[in-house]
Amino acid sequence: MSAKSANDPRPLLGGIEAGGTKFVCAIGTGPEDIRAEERFETATPEVTLQRAADFFRRHPRLPEAIGIGAFGPADLDPDSPTYGHITSTPKTGWDYVDIAGYLQRYLDVPVGFDTDVNAAVLGEHTWGAGQGLGNLLYLTIGTGIGGGALLNGVLVRGLLHPEMGHLIVPRAPGDEFGGVCPYHGACLEGLATGPAIAARWGRSAQSLPRDHAAWGFEAHYLGIAVTNLILAFSPERIILGGGVMQQRHLFAAIRNNVQTNLNGYLGHPYLTRSINSYIVPPGLGSRAGVLGAMVLAQNALDQRSTRPEP
Ligand code: ADP
Ligand code: ZN
Repeated sequence: MSAKSANDPRPLLGGIEAGGTKFVCAIGTGPEDIRAEERFETATPEVTLQRAADFFRRHPRLPEAIGIGAFGPADLDPDSPTYGHITSTPKTGWDYVDIAGYLQRYLDVPVGFDTDVNAAVLGEHTWGAGQGLGNLLYLTIGTGIGGGALLNGVLVRGLLHPEMGHLIVPRAPGDEFGGVCPYHGACLEGLATGPAIAARWGRSAQSLPRDHAAWGFEAHYLGIAVTNLILAFSPERIILGGGVMQQRHLFAAIRNNVQTNLNGYLGHPYLTRSINSYIVPPGLGSRAGVLGAMVLAQNALDQRSTRPEP
């Protein structure tokens, strides 16, 4: 361990971005001080959670707390008997898996638990493109679509948690693709994720050239979703992340479509002159989720130190 880390008063935190396709684990005190990081494919719950636990056990010092940003649907209600579990997921073998409980038992440190996108919005708020903004929205467009919202500095968790990926969006003219969502067919997720693009065009999203018709459809659907989310939440900034947003040209097209959809209705300069700094990529890049999970760890630690002894 370096002299710096030995004298550092900041707590050592663990983060897990528990995705349906891959897990990202990291240990450190923040984005400038990641001591170790590991990414691996999501396999069976036993194998995957053991691998995540081993990652922390191998480190010379156990983190003081860990945070988990999980794929959903997940149970975030601390009073529920299935708190910390993935709930009814179509992902084979993972329904009702107690992710938070497993890691808590194995590592015996406080565990913070939330959705992957709630973690990402927290990470961006703390260290990324949303610093200083209490009203912030993070949308990921990857294997799935999900959104996390911070309002007045507090994560939106309601009856369940928001499921922005399944917004119903009007069809683009000429689009007859049935969509891939197992529940709704052509909801936003059914039309605009990486797998939806691949199913529609018969090749992977990343292999499509920039002038392909796919991107017009993509900007149409994301432009509508972002417009609706601005109207519903009134965020001070919207961050768009995930694999599909690696297509950087989508940002200009989405900003344009949002302005067209709003048609001057919301006259705020953020939506007119400054839209380039209003709809933006994540400041933390592909680490938004795992760093956000470290913020969940910090929150779990803070809660423990302020909670009265039972
Ligand atoms: P996950 O959602 O599983 O956490 P990602 O956010 O990386 O992971 O999303 C993966 C999806 O993004 C895949 O469907 C992939 O086809 C798509 N994708 C990855 N890179 C690109 C790219 N450069 N352009 C378009 N789509 C991409
Ligand atoms: Zn759906």
